[in-house]
Amino acid sequence: MSTIVRAEFPRVRFTCVLCGECCRRYWIPVTHRDVIRIARYTGGMRPREFLALFPKDMAADWDEPVIRLRDGEYYLVLKKRLDGTCIFNKWVGDKLICSVHPVKPNVCRYYPFIYWLNNGVVKFEVYDKALGYCPGIGRGGGYANFRVEISSIEDSVKAKAEFREVIEKWNEQFKRRLVKGTIEEFMNYIEAVVDEYSRKNP
Ligand code: SF4
Ligand code: SF4
Repeated sequence: MSTIVRAEFPRVRFTCVLCGECCRRYWIPVTHRDVIRIARYTGGMRPREFLALFPKDMAADWDEPVIRLRDGEYYLVLKKRLDGTCIFNKWVGDKLICSVHPVKPNVCRYYPFIYWLNNGVVKFEVYDKALGYCPGIGRGGGYANFRVEISSIEDSVKAKAEFREVIEKWNEQFKRRLVKGTIEEFMNYIEAVVDEYSRKNP
């Protein structure tokens, strides 16, 4: 049974104009479940083809699991191209669209809104940093009242908890010196996690 009973929206008009600015600005943290959905949707891209590790020192304090490697600490993110666009951005005419839109990572799903979950109510707010550059905010005929996929929010909460365990297991292996802590080893580890999850959830 759903644990979320209601969604609340701010009184803000919004229509995405597909400028891609948000995709260019941010590194996108992902969980193993985001990775599985994308790998399936792309018809079998291997995770290491679209994943990167972002140094923790260069990030603000993200609420994401920290991966320990022999040369430092990292977050798991999507790769970017040299021009800053996300590896899954695609030009269609003058629009920059998301080529994995139906399965995009949870952090991308409701942008430029962020949400808080409290006692069964999910409350959406405009991400304050987006106010300065997102041209979609303030556009459109009515206040934002988009369709919220409650299941995606519940999945996101579960996925994050699971992903913490996945990364804790890796960090434990590293601490016990069962792995050397190279990027290659970590990518092997995450691909094995993804393969195992896919086998169990065909
Ligand atoms: S910056 Fe705003 S308008 Fe542009 S793609 Fe992102 S959400 Fe859409
Ligand atoms: S996954 Fe899609 S929505 Fe998310 S940053 Fe990449 S192109 Fe943008």
